Amino acid sequence: MSSFKALRASEGADGRFTTMVVERNIDDLPQGEVLIRVRYSSLNFKDALSASGNRGVTRQYPHTPGIDAAGVVAASSIAEFAEGDEVIVTGYDLGMNTAGGFGQYIRVPAAWVIKRPQGLSLREAMILGTAGLTAGLCVDKLEQAGLHPDAGPILVTGATGGVGSIAVALLASLGHSVAAVTGKAHQGEFLTRLGASQIVDRAALQAGGEKPLLKEQWAGAVDTVGGDILFSVVKSLQRGASVACCGLTAGTEFKGNVLPFILRGVNLLGVDSVELPLVVKASMWDKLSLQWKIETLEDLVHEVELAQLPAEIERILGAGQVGRTLVRLD
Ligand code: NDP
Repeated sequence: MSSFKALRASEGADGRFTTMVVERNIDDLPQGEVLIRVRYSSLNFKDALSASGNRGVTRQYPHTPGIDAAGVVAASSIAEFAEGDEVIVTGYDLGMNTAGGFGQYIRVPAAWVIKRPQGLSLREAMILGTAGLTAGLCVDKLEQAGLHPDAGPILVTGATGGVGSIAVALLASLGHSVAAVTGKAHQGEFLTRLGASQIVDRAALQAGGEKPLLKEQWAGAVDTVGGDILFSVVKSLQRGASVACCGLTAGTEFKGNVLPFILRGVNLLGVDSVELPLVVKASMWDKLSLQWKIETLEDLVHEVELAQLPAEIERILGAGQVGRTLVRLD
């Protein structure tokens, strides 16, 4: 079998981008040591940027997005991987300028490929996907900076989104008290089911935005939205607390001042899940499969097939994402 189905994003003569499911040929995939039959992928905010023509993510179209893939090795030119091995690929150039996981096959360098950890199925791995890996890295950075469960409430912004919902579930499962910030007041029950003990309205978090410092409230934070919300978080951290910053849905820039840093000793920790050395990714996957295994994953996922992705992409671009969208590639 040399042809397969893939979602292709292309630019029309009017400059508008559309996505549709097409037949592709394995011979058209880029060079690489490992050919993988993808079983599951997932939808991340970055995939929607790629699918809608964001040149900061993807330079050339037509293109198959999908920064996540989990599947079975179909062919390998190196001994480390054999036909039939179950594997995971996330990040690096997958789905950016390399045909990604929204296709039934990918071909990638072996340096991007991780063997599926025993404690996770391929399906569970893609419910987590880049969002789960990122949430895990955020929590890990906070722990390295001294966070512990009895320190007080931890704030998670963009809480209903992919990274946010997994961060809520992971922190709650580790015994933290979680305050979930959302613009979706009607999703309080969803967040409570994942383990949030407090729901914070996004607008309320930004109240007093012009003040140089806000009341010390949070023992730590995972910020998935960036922009001025990030600085509101920085200004309301407890003395010595940290925020892990990983996202930009509210914007890439924020206005700020140095007072929270020099008067309260708070820390702004950057998190990148894309270009991390493979060994660091593998160690986080191991953690997410064992001691950090999240038991509420099924509560935060809905499953779609390729043909349903265009509507899902519109939804995530419109800030309407709730939990994780798992993509099944039958
Ligand atoms: P989602 O779209 O799933 O979640 C984002 C959530 O942010 C939304 O559901 C919404 O949650 C909130 N939000 C959306 N728009 C705004 C806005 N204008 N102002 C404030 N809040 C908003 O995205 P992902 O979880 O996939 O990704 C989150 C961010 O993290 C993205 O910017 C993504 O690019 C980045 N990211 C970075 C990674 C890294 O390695 N650093 C890896 C993975 C993701 P609610 O309605 O509950 O407030």
